[in-house]
Amino acid sequence: MSRPRVVVLGAGVAGHTSASFLKRWLGDQAEVIVVSPRPDYNWIPSNIWVGVGLLKPSQVLFPLSPIYEREGITFHQARATVLHPEGHGEDLKPFLEAESTLEGHEGEALKVPYDFLVNATGPKLAFEATPGLGPKGHSLSVCTAPHAEEASRALDEAVERMKRGERQRFLVGTGHGTCTCQGAAFEYIVNLEFELRARGAGQG
Ligand SMILES: Cc1cc2nc3c(=O)[nH]c(=O)nc-3n(C[C@H](O)[C@H](O)[C@H](O)COP(=O)(O)OP(=O)(O)OC[C@H]3O[C@@H](n4cnc5c(N)ncnc54)[C@H](O)[C@@H]3O)c2cc1C
Repeated sequence: MSRPRVVVLGAGVAGHTSASFLKRWLGDQAEVIVVSPRPDYNWIPSNIWVGVGLLKPSQVLFPLSPIYEREGITFHQARATVLHPEGHGEDLKPFLEAESTLEGHEGEALKVPYDFLVNATGPKLAFEATPGLGPKGHSLSVCTAPHAEEASRALDEAVERMKRGERQRFLVGTGHGTCTCQGAAFEYIVNLEFELRARGAGQG
């Protein structure tokens, strides 16, 4: 008899923790499969340190493949696009469709059958809910490691301007009212104030 297949969508704090514990608890009794589009795990809370240049992106990211290989978890670097919990057409067993994000295989279609599904794809960054917000608009972000790195570069430029005597005004906040990362914004404000003082650019 084939082993039950447990598919975990997403390798953030929820998905990665679920997959690791499922494998530890179920061992060889089940196949644990992770489907997630990024090759790395990002410890998101520490992005606030990347955003002021005190940590590098490589210090908040680590590659998932070697860990899953060691743990005996199958990893598909792919983005789930459609769930078929009751199968589809002739195929009456649950499966999902995904598209590969693996370098050199981008867009290739995957069909992943499952018996149990953990959906841990996390929140959607909804910059578009606030016109003009976000890295593609007129603000910076620390929501992902690359965003935070960009914010850090912008801070370096602002500090240079301040040192040349230009007055800079920083507005730190969150977007749409339903977003729940006010804690991160508060932490970033504290980091920013500390860092401006440390670089001799703040006025206190
Ligand atoms: C800067 C910042 C600081 C924070 N600090 C704190 C803190 O100090 N304490 C705290 O409790 N919380 C904090 N948070 C909130 C916390 O980071 C989130 O609540 C947490 O990351 C949510 O985890 P998650 O696994 O549900 O989602 P995520 O971490 O967003 O993970 C989602 C995963 O799903 C993947 N995925 C997305 N779409 C698909 C798809 N279609 N198919 C497959 N996979 C997909 C993603 O690539 C990712 O791997 C902070 C957030 C930010 C932005």
